[in-house]
Amino acid sequence: MSSRWSAEKSAVLEAAQEMAALGLVTGASGNVSMRLGANELLAVTPSSVPYGDLTEDSIVVTDFDVEPVEGELPPSSETLLHVAVYRARPDVGAVIHTHSVYTSVAAVAGLEIPPIIDEMVIAVGGPVKVSAYAFPGSEELADSVCEALGPRSAALIKNHGAVGVGKDLREALSVCALIERVAQIFLLARTLGRVDELPPDVVKAEQAIFEMRSHQAEV
Ligand SMILES: [Zn+2]
Repeated sequence: MSSRWSAEKSAVLEAAQEMAALGLVTGASGNVSMRLGANELLAVTPSSVPYGDLTEDSIVVTDFDVEPVEGELPPSSETLLHVAVYRARPDVGAVIHTHSVYTSVAAVAGLEIPPIIDEMVIAVGGPVKVSAYAFPGSEELADSVCEALGPRSAALIKNHGAVGVGKDLREALSVCALIERVAQIFLLARTLGRVDELPPDVVKAEQAIFEMRSHQAEV
């Protein structure tokens, strides 16, 4: 079927399959979306379809009220979360929600991941905060995750998983893979009984690099 958003839907499909191949989700869990221009539309993975069974036509286009625009399948049950991020963050062009294991462990334990790895601060913009608990798919979850996200590019979803955002799908996916690795490092260091955070002046300098990059993306 031809679609004016064929290239975008195919990019969402590829990112979803890569997310699954990286082990950041299993089965049909997690979801991927990209903003479609300035018209308050997004292309998003469908609800409850295993990643191996997805095709370009499975990717759904909805508006910001989650009303269907194109596609036969129901959109992801977390579409409200994706829309809330696009509304709150004009700089964000793609949102990826994963159920990766170590970020989920930190989310269950209610542990914010502090700035402990240089590349993390440059990519995320600071700590990875944990949202307040809210029911999956709810507007409350969308709001609590946006609050935990703030101006940064990742957050943990309490008792659920993680979310990574970026100017495009590539950036969002690489943030998701990075925070999973950093969560693993953090939790292992914690079992040794010692987690040394980066010096505050280094965190500040790295946050400045993060901000400079996100402003460049807006231009
Ligand atoms: Zn989820």
